[in-house]
Amino acid sequence: MGIIRSAPPAFEVTVPVLVIGAGACGCTAALAAHEAGVGVMILERDETPRGNTSLSGGQIPAAGTKLQKAGGIDDTPEILAQDLIRKAHGQNDAELARHIAEISASTIDWLMDRYDMPLSLVDDFLYPGHSRHHMHGSPSRFGAELLTVFLEAVTKSGIDIATRAPVRDLFADDSGRVTGVRIARPDGTDEDVGCGALILACNGFGGSPDMLAEYIPEMVDAHYHGHDGNKGDAVKWGLELGAAVADMHSFQGHGAVTDPHKIHLGWPSISEGGIQVNASGERFSNENAGYSEQALNVIRQPGHVAWTIFDDRCHKTALQFHSHQECEKAGAIRTAANASEITAIVGCPDEAVAETLASVAAMAGGEREDPFGRDLTRHPPLEPPYKVAKVTGALFHTQGGLEVDKQARALRPDGTPMPNLFAGGGAARGLSGPEDWGYLSGSGLLMATNLGRLAGEAAAQLVLAEAAS
Ligand SMILES: Cc1cc2nc3c(=O)[nH]c(=O)nc-3n(C[C@H](O)[C@H](O)[C@H](O)COP(=O)(O)OP(=O)(O)OC[C@H]3O[C@@H](n4cnc5c(N)ncnc54)[C@H](O)[C@@H]3O)c2cc1C
Repeated sequence: MGIIRSAPPAFEVTVPVLVIGAGACGCTAALAAHEAGVGVMILERDETPRGNTSLSGGQIPAAGTKLQKAGGIDDTPEILAQDLIRKAHGQNDAELARHIAEISASTIDWLMDRYDMPLSLVDDFLYPGHSRHHMHGSPSRFGAELLTVFLEAVTKSGIDIATRAPVRDLFADDSGRVTGVRIARPDGTDEDVGCGALILACNGFGGSPDMLAEYIPEMVDAHYHGHDGNKGDAVKWGLELGAAVADMHSFQGHGAVTDPHKIHLGWPSISEGGIQVNASGERFSNENAGYSEQALNVIRQPGHVAWTIFDDRCHKTALQFHSHQECEKAGAIRTAANASEITAIVGCPDEAVAETLASVAAMAGGEREDPFGRDLTRHPPLEPPYKVAKVTGALFHTQGGLEVDKQARALRPDGTPMPNLFAGGGAARGLSGPEDWGYLSGSGLLMATNLGRLAGEAAAQLVLAEAAS
């Protein structure tokens, strides 16, 4: 795969705006370009689109939406932008964070009003780093519900979507202008399609062990919980075309994927007061600093595992998540009447869990400080019977990618835009900064839907302007 510099003399089919990838980003981009009045086509490698969007928890952050106003949530774009910037320790693109936060409400309102996106406010718990209830979630907090509606909207709008259409190569001239793409059909034939503008919505490189070894070696051996088809094609093409990439070491992990079932617990199991212990029955971190950084905290424990201990109150809030329900169905969540039953599940020395639970209760009661810096006073102490799940740390998606501006235009290293190349979602550099600790919950779909919308609008404007000139 790569860039072919000599385009065929003429493409049999040419589409004004081509989109690679039928996830949240590709669908949003296609809908926005279509609304702007240009022809658009999506190319998707899978027979049935099922990228990370369909695996996700289906929650999109935004600030100032109609839903928030109706729910009495006092949120503003500046609050969301500050949350994004603070979580990334100020090491993300603050200007882009502000712009994304600024348009986030209109994107959610647009998707709900125009395309019946089934979102409701997640207002019964706060994710780490969220200073307001920013999250808008699908009914079962499951991305497959969102992707179904996205694909219906695309189809009803009359947008062409070609499946079983993995793009292998891009055609480009010497200026970096993309003139078309080559699709390697599963039957061995190649198909070429020309374009006026190209939107890369084909996510990151979580499904490429080679690229993980190069950019995020500490996660090569970790369980990858995302879509295998995300092979880093956007980054590979971008680099060959002379585009800039950044934050390639950055990723979103998750520190509570059940072992061996490989289904993730709903985060309220932790955020509502749950803790994690290692094989010695001891805590080892501030579990609620963020689910992303908790992945490596868990992976660094003996056997690369930990046990999440929570109670019925946490469990009930977590049960709104499809994945948490699946954990329960799979038998990944066990019940323990007391500390010694937890000790038996963990297999740790007698008394270790009892000591841990006693010290956590003291911290929840405000009698002790947590040595890891967590404020456990925000929730009631854990109450028996306990819930216990063995977990490991996993890679959800990569956060490095093509540098883009506020129109989702791919940029060269000198900051100038590529002629007609756009990127969004996991294909673009995220807002997480350089490391795993910078991911604010929901940044993935935030960047998929908002950069998708920006890319679709800007690509349409570009082809309309070029047609008029
Ligand atoms: C388990 C899990 C839970 C998550 N939960 C949340 C959440 O609740 N909130 C949140 O904000 N984020 C969440 N995320 C992150 C979120 O899912 C992603 O950031 C988001 O879905 C990215 O959307 P996308 O459109 O960029 O990529 P995707 O949805 O992955 O779509 C990319 C598409 O491109 C296709 N493709 C790839 N290469 C090619 C090619 N060469 N040719 C043609 N097609 C190609 C793929 O097949 C895929 O369909 C979660 C991720 C995981 C794994």
